[in-house]
Formats: sequence, C-alpha cells, structure tokens
Amino acid sequence: MRRVGQDRVDLAPRGRGGALAIVDYKVATDEAREARHHEKLQVYSLAGRGEGLTVEAAYVHDLHAGTRAAADISAEASGRALTSVTQRLAALREARFEPKPEARRCSSCEYAGICGHVAGAETTGDIPRKISASC
Ligand code: SF4
Repeated sequence: MRRVGQDRVDLAPRGRGGALAIVDYKVATDEAREARHHEKLQVYSLAGRGEGLTVEAAYVHDLHAGTRAAADISAEASGRALTSVTQRLAALREARFEPKPEARRCSSCEYAGICGHVAGAETTGDIPRKISASC
C-alpha cells in the first residue's frame, strides 16, 4: 500500500504481465464526494501509466459498506479528469476563487463572517450578516 497525499491507495497485482489495479479506500459515505473519488483514480491511473505501469483497473472501495465500484479509467475519461484538475490548479495558482455559496456549506464555513457571498445572507454593503450562530 502506498500513501498519496492524505489518501491510502493500494496497487494490487492483477492478472499476468505486471498489470495493476488501483484501489482507493474510502471511509466516509458522502455521495457528494463520489465523483471526486473517481476523478482521483482517473488521474492516478494516468500517473501510473506515465511511469510505465500497466494500470488495468481502478476501484473505489467503500470500507463502511464493504463494496467496490469500478472507476472509468479509459483514456477519454482520464483525459477529461486531467483537464479538469489542471484547470482548477491553474485557477488556484492565479488566486481565482469562484465563490460557490450553498446554505449547508456556508453555515459551517469559518469565512462566512467576512465572505461577501454567503448563501442566504442579507448583506449590508460588502459585509454579510451572519446567517447562523456558527457563522
Ligand atoms: S461563506 Fe463564502 S467562502 Fe464560505 S462556503 Fe460560503 S461562499 Fe464559500
């Protein structure tokens, strides 16, 4: 098992000829993160192939449910994932932060007190009023 950032990723031998399957273990059951798990595996598969590895499959393994879902690591899907990640990284490098206000997220955001885009907030000038005790 190898560590990639904060994640645990397993490279499992698969079949003959040195082919590998990448397995990403997740502990949280958050449907909103599902697409991100798959995107991550698509980028990992490209990275592995770039290193000369034969990545044959990739799975998101839900430790809570004990299930495994195959990720689409085709060249097309992985290419789209890489483009998306590259664009997001470029935006971060250029300090372009597009606000994505959402009531659930904003209600627990530590920047809500100074953010001018708080979901559901009534604003006075550029300073939003707090929308809950936690903001
Ligand atoms: S308060 Fe602002 S920074 Fe925080 S989640 Fe909402 S929009 Fe984003």
